[in-house]
Amino acid sequence: MSFMNTTFRAFFLVELMQGLACTLKYFFFRPAVTINYPFEKGPLSPRFRGEHALRRYPNGEERCIACKLCEAICPALAITIEGEVRDDGSRRARRYDIDMTKCIYCGFCQEACPVDAIVEGPNFEYATETRAELMYNKAKLLANGERWETELAARIEADAPYR
Ligand code: SF4
Ligand code: SF4
Repeated sequence: MSFMNTTFRAFFLVELMQGLACTLKYFFFRPAVTINYPFEKGPLSPRFRGEHALRRYPNGEERCIACKLCEAICPALAITIEGEVRDDGSRRARRYDIDMTKCIYCGFCQEACPVDAIVEGPNFEYATETRAELMYNKAKLLANGERWETELAARIEADAPYR
């Protein structure tokens, strides 16, 4: 760049004006790329791994058969299960705990479950004020399942062709 050209650009603040024009262009003429969270939320993949939930069958029966595959595969040792055999001979979980402070959201528990009982749902808004609130028990996980069942079933169906 010649000396005259450089001097001209410096004297008339050409680069500053170019930057300002770019800013004004995006400010007035381009749609916003940000969203007004929490009033607006972005799209989530059916494979998004959020808060855990235990699902039930449509007749209300718990899906979990206490096979402990999820407990065995969990790399963070976050899951604790105790099974029991009911009077009708079926096997179910008496205790199902997840220490959410240990969980690394790998999704292995969901992958291992043969009956789609434990799943990671779309909920990512479950911050708490205490660590104790992140020690999930069976009642909490089943309540999550009841709350999110419609979304959970839709996500599993949407992902089914790729499994
Ligand atoms: S998502 Fe991974 S770390 Fe969390 S409970 Fe399931 S298997 Fe364990
Ligand atoms: S959640 Fe699934 S993998 Fe885990 S113990 Fe129950 S049935 Fe087995």
